[in-house]
Amino acid sequence: MKYKIKPLMTGNFHMNWGHIMSPFAMGHVADVPVFMFAVTGEDGETIMVDASFKMESVPKFIFGPHRTKDQEVPKVLAANGIDPAQIQKVIITHLHHDHTGYLHLFRNARMYVQETELINAYHPPGIQAVGVCREDWEPCVPQFALVNGDFEVKDGLRLVFAPGHTPGHQAVAVNTDRGTAVICGDSSYLYAGFAKRFPQKFREVMALGSEPIDVANPEVPAVLQKIMTARYGGYFGPAIINPEENMRSMAKLDLLADIIVPGHDPELLRMKVIPDDYDLE
Ligand SMILES: [Zn+2]
Repeated sequence: MKYKIKPLMTGNFHMNWGHIMSPFAMGHVADVPVFMFAVTGEDGETIMVDASFKMESVPKFIFGPHRTKDQEVPKVLAANGIDPAQIQKVIITHLHHDHTGYLHLFRNARMYVQETELINAYHPPGIQAVGVCREDWEPCVPQFALVNGDFEVKDGLRLVFAPGHTPGHQAVAVNTDRGTAVICGDSSYLYAGFAKRFPQKFREVMALGSEPIDVANPEVPAVLQKIMTARYGGYFGPAIINPEENMRSMAKLDLLADIIVPGHDPELLRMKVIPDDYDLE
């Protein structure tokens, strides 16, 4: 079966990109779009991936959440013809607050989560705790279908275990008429994270920071070459619990994907339907 993917824009975080998006963008303060994804198969069933953020669940001094009235999640769902009570399946890439805010709307859905993710979300370590709002997802635990590793949800739609951003993070591999699209979750926020595939996007991020990297400096190409040719060197994850594990996961997703759908890239704002509007390669 083949599917279409709609990235649904549900608001922004306004923050220093260096804190979470990429260390190379340190000092660049700008909006970060927060998406939910609606995945619709040829059989007409729509499966949701993630559930955006609830305003009161996000620490405002860190993340600067904001949304317009049109970006309120119930309005976005209605505008796209989605009745949350009719949804049978929700995939949760991970239990961060910008992915779990409106889970409660999907009251008849089975929710696919990695078991490791659930265990970790009850006791996130140290600063990672700022990304978790237990009150958002705990009432939905009776609806959770706990998964361990890769799992086929439906024909042409499977969960791909991709830890690193969180210990139980998962991505979603979706069959489309242009090959396999991988909804990466937060394995990579940006296309730039897959520097091997999108070197120009990576250089754009390097030039964003308040102290942008001077690419004319003769040391830069040599250092970049050293990084890019290192083990998993073409992958740059966001703020994460385990950078090495995340790079390994990104390499796995890169091998699988004909089409990359990162977690929070502003490029997705102009892609109303994937694969139809995907034009990056
Ligand atoms: Zn996250």
